[in-house]
Amino acid sequence: MSEQIKNAKALDSVLIKPAGPDCNLSCSYCFYLEKSNLFSESSKHRMSEDVLEAIVKQVMTRAGENVSFGWQGGEPTLMGLPFFEKVIEYQKQYGKRQIVGNGLQTNGILIDKQWAHFLDSNKFLVGLSLDGPEHIHNRYRVNRSGQSTWTRVVDSAKLMLDKGVAVNALTVVNDYSVQFPQDIYEFHKELGLTFMQFIPCLEPDDDNPERTASFSVSSEEYGDFLCRLFDLWIADFEYGTPTTSVRFFDSVFYNYVGLTAPDCTLLPECGVYVVIEHNGNVYSCDFFVEPAWYLGNVMQAELSEMLNSELQKKFGKTKRKLHDQCSNCQWLKYCWGGCIKDRNHNPLDNNLTYFCHSYQKFFEHADTRLRQLAQNWQRQQIESAHKQAANVSGKKSEHKIGRNESCSCGSGIKYKNCCGVY
Ligand code: SF4
Ligand code: SF4
Repeated sequence: MSEQIKNAKALDSVLIKPAGPDCNLSCSYCFYLEKSNLFSESSKHRMSEDVLEAIVKQVMTRAGENVSFGWQGGEPTLMGLPFFEKVIEYQKQYGKRQIVGNGLQTNGILIDKQWAHFLDSNKFLVGLSLDGPEHIHNRYRVNRSGQSTWTRVVDSAKLMLDKGVAVNALTVVNDYSVQFPQDIYEFHKELGLTFMQFIPCLEPDDDNPERTASFSVSSEEYGDFLCRLFDLWIADFEYGTPTTSVRFFDSVFYNYVGLTAPDCTLLPECGVYVVIEHNGNVYSCDFFVEPAWYLGNVMQAELSEMLNSELQKKFGKTKRKLHDQCSNCQWLKYCWGGCIKDRNHNPLDNNLTYFCHSYQKFFEHADTRLRQLAQNWQRQQIESAHKQAANVSGKKSEHKIGRNESCSCGSGIKYKNCCGVY
């Protein structure tokens, strides 16, 4: 097998925006609405059935055993249920008995009983945009007439949870909500949204792009927010296991145990996925839907080739260009300098993320506890591997393992440093 093929990234995860940047709300902090300028040929953007079929066919025929489709926007439910019924039809038609995951990010406004039934029947994982209690959510998440949306979104959350749909809360942390980590965390938990993702809000000021928009969160305050949230998350552990999931902490934990973090912000390189717009145009990242990072169109080119193209590799490596401060930082192996989009807001930052201070504060606060959690987890892995090895052999070996022999659990480590530790 050639090196090139061996190192090729698998096409097992795509992000699709079937309604482009279109949305039925007008949240003050949203950056998607301005993306309409890129597709100015029409004010309404909808994916055609041909483009949908081409995407699903390519992904299902190229992907391995596990494949995931992320449907987001704008607002993907604007496509209507028949579009998503087609999605399932094509996934079945072109699939090879893979395990298929579908994730839908929605603002919840159009969710009704039919949607809830569909999402439950087809095992969609829903990310629901909900910023917390009423006064926090309604601060910026308003409809086009400027009216509040909280009641409608909470009703949608309850409807989906009652139907058994798996729902995560997607919460934007802005200049206002940052003051209420506990209120937001407890609110989500009480509603039954125990899986939470927090997204720090950082947008340039329209009049002066080198400054941040007024609703952006400050790096200092976001650091405090993460520390408080971490304490709440830890306080909810039962028998050493988390009872809630906070995506940032989960991802950080992956880095502490040497696994690949699910959040690309905390990976050493970008370019692990591609984003597909309503017209089939493919770009390097949802935050870089711009001509410089246009990879091609699904109607003319193969997604797997675009994912492994030189341009996508170049995009991935831009994350490696770090500020000097990062190169010498003890937290680099956990934060990897953060997301590129957060490094560009001010040229004077010279590639240092706006959230550096938040990360430093968080790691100083949480490092000891995270190390303990990582050690416990690694010990459990070794124990369970040891038990499995004992089960496979069917009986305990009569042979007493020497301290310097390889451990029978199959770890490849000397017995004295592995299961012999106990
Ligand atoms: S730019 Fe940010 S969001 Fe995009 S792939 Fe890189 S880390 Fe992820
Ligand atoms: S904490 Fe700051 S300096 Fe350290 S690696 Fe992360 S972004 Fe760079």
